[in-house]
Amino acid sequence: MTALTITGATLPDGTRRDLHVDAGVFVESAPAGAARIDADGLQALPGLVDLHTHLREPGFEASETVLTGTQAAAAGGFTAVFAMANTFPVQDTAGVVEQVASLGAQHGYATVRPIGAVTVGLAGERLAEIGAMARSRAAVRVFSDDGKCVSDPLLMRRALEYVATFGGVVAQHAQEPRLTEGAQMNEGELSSELGLAGWPGVAEEAIIARDVLLAEQLRARLHICHVSTAGSVEVLRWAKGRGIDVTAEVTPHHLLLTEQRAASYDARYKVNPPLRTQEDVDAVRAALADGTIDIVATDHAPHPIETKEAAWAEASFGMVGLESALSVVQSAMVETGLLDWADVARVLSAAPAAIGRLDGYDAPFAIGSPAHLTLVDTAARRTFGTGDLHGRSINSPYLGAELPGRVVATVHGGVPTALDGELRPAEEVANGQAA
Ligand SMILES: [Zn+2]
Repeated sequence: MTALTITGATLPDGTRRDLHVDAGVFVESAPAGAARIDADGLQALPGLVDLHTHLREPGFEASETVLTGTQAAAAGGFTAVFAMANTFPVQDTAGVVEQVASLGAQHGYATVRPIGAVTVGLAGERLAEIGAMARSRAAVRVFSDDGKCVSDPLLMRRALEYVATFGGVVAQHAQEPRLTEGAQMNEGELSSELGLAGWPGVAEEAIIARDVLLAEQLRARLHICHVSTAGSVEVLRWAKGRGIDVTAEVTPHHLLLTEQRAASYDARYKVNPPLRTQEDVDAVRAALADGTIDIVATDHAPHPIETKEAAWAEASFGMVGLESALSVVQSAMVETGLLDWADVARVLSAAPAAIGRLDGYDAPFAIGSPAHLTLVDTAARRTFGTGDLHGRSINSPYLGAELPGRVVATVHGGVPTALDGELRPAEEVANGQAA
């Protein structure tokens, strides 16, 4: 079994100490002969947890697989990912979610917690086998039709009622479908100028307003995916003020980029929900800082290059994000003084784990806790390139951009998955070997 001694790491609270790992957990002192990682000058963070990843397997292995997606995760400092249900077959049965979870366990780069579909085939017509997925070996606790909105209010109500019986949560992709038919980018002056169909903020805000009211009435737990507008923040602030059990996420790209990127017609910037205005970016940053938005989630959405090099209107929606997420958060939130590293640890690890009912992340670095951590060189600057991407797709909006920070090492359950800024070999990770 793996034993590690990590020397001189700076913890999220700013203290500096050595960390010892044995048999997958933090211990007082590691046995003689433990592998040594020099973390002098590095920031230690708890293993990052992504509540919103598209791993694409089964069905779309040309874009990503459980192996390549979790390698991308490890390279980005993540030790757990929640895998969205829009695979083929859809993750709407116990069999499919168990398959995805066990592929993750087999490879070992990160814990894979499958998200179950809310409706059969994501078709929005009848509820999927939510109970069977919850009781399965995958123990699903998060349910989402992400990519599509559960727009039927009666189905949404039933789903919220059902998951409340076992402490689950519905993660809503808030997009009123009638208001966004054919929509291509944020609705406003710029969309008119560019001749691209507009995607109004109210399409997101109206669904969030409806669903927080349903959650209140049913005393159910609701999570809102990828909040993108100032109006959504206002609705969430109101709901939380009333004590409604709602949580929300923002993506790194909605914290950093604006709709102005669409002026290039470069479809790397085409994403769902669309990039919004500077005013919206300022609002979601402030909301993450004051807790109205609880977490950052990547919405890592790999697509083959040909579907992103197409004309804007034909191109796919989505960006990869696992390898750039921490750097973007550093740039948008830490270097602006809105969050410190203890806050980053919360919004990228403890809070997403709590929302997803993922054990082992509530007492980071404590003796006896699972050894999930990442070491970051926060002083580094890098020009982000395809060499930084480890998944099967390269549809990143940051290629060629200078980003702060660099993940030096990631440790998942005591097993190093990345070291010296490089992924460790798949065989050694799968076997749980020390460095
Ligand atoms: Zn979505």
